[in-house]
Amino acid sequence: MPPLWQEKLRKITPYVPGEQSSNPGLIKLNANENPYPPSPRVREALQGLDTGALRLYPDANASRLRGALSSYYGVKPTQVFMGNGSDDVLALAFQSFFCSGQPILFPDITYSFYPVWCGLFRTPYETVPLDGNFRVNPRDYDRPSGGVVLPNPNAPTGISEGRAFIEDILSHNQDCVVIIDEAYVDFGGWSCVPLLEQYENLLIVQTFSKSRSLAGLRIGVALGSETLIATLEAVKNSYNSYTMDAVSIEAGAAAVEDDAYFRETCRKVIGTRERCAAALRGLGFTVCPSDSNFLFVTHPAARARDIFEAMRAQNIFIRHFNLPRIDNYLRITIGTETEMDKLLSALAGYLG
Ligand SMILES: *Cc1c(COP(=O)(O)O)cnc(C)c1O
Repeated sequence: MPPLWQEKLRKITPYVPGEQSSNPGLIKLNANENPYPPSPRVREALQGLDTGALRLYPDANASRLRGALSSYYGVKPTQVFMGNGSDDVLALAFQSFFCSGQPILFPDITYSFYPVWCGLFRTPYETVPLDGNFRVNPRDYDRPSGGVVLPNPNAPTGISEGRAFIEDILSHNQDCVVIIDEAYVDFGGWSCVPLLEQYENLLIVQTFSKSRSLAGLRIGVALGSETLIATLEAVKNSYNSYTMDAVSIEAGAAAVEDDAYFRETCRKVIGTRERCAAALRGLGFTVCPSDSNFLFVTHPAARARDIFEAMRAQNIFIRHFNLPRIDNYLRITIGTETEMDKLLSALAGYLG
């Protein structure tokens, strides 16, 4: 019998991130990290950092980074919220907006952190099945709910929807907050920032971890109406005023200010993605149309789990989710051209 105090501990099933490894020979295509380094301006910002100033608390408003993003997106600084990675921003948004007690809605196949936060914050939820092509039917969201959260492009499918779809969801969900998680939008999706003017209940969440090559710093952002952002601020300031450290604020602003570099790396990832999608189809894979920095694939003649293990044995990490409906799929992050060539030849070898 375990002691009684153990019965009082929180029991929860956490999110499991993609496996990390420090093996230098590893080809790591399992966590949707960017294969290219961050902008050289980030290095300059870090080298120029006044370490003496680290004795002080950081700017709780992350004003420098917030200002850079407000100019970048053409919104007011009071419409920008910064957090310690977009997982932090999303967790705060769940606590801030999904507290009515009514179930919130999200797809059955989506970012697997959403149900984990619902468990942590005791938010009831209902999952809505994607159709046979892994698409969201907006009609499924025409009903009262505690809120809606959708990634666009969706994860782990990579499939994105356009303006008409997002407007459809928003116009039918005016009595709750709708969160659009745009973690991958810079790789070819449509960002709904232009809809902020019209929908005060829209919260857009983005991250610096993928398209800005800064997963190692933790930088997430939310854009929304002043009312939503003020609520996020109040909730943040009720548990930790300093979620963003001084180093991330400086480096993040430097990354935003180098738009040419950002566009160039996104363009390269998109180019590699399109080439690999074609090559994978050539190997017999079915490849979901992707507007993200990964491909979601299945093979009619080989089990996803077996392919995953075979690649792992060759030091190539890709992602397999042991989840209903997608357990015969693999999610492959787009790496450099060289990394993808190695993956493609390993797959060709395995499939014979
Ligand atoms: C990667 C990812 C995030 C989290 O990114 P952070 O590194 O925490 O900023 C959020 N949503 C989706 C859909 C993601 O794939």
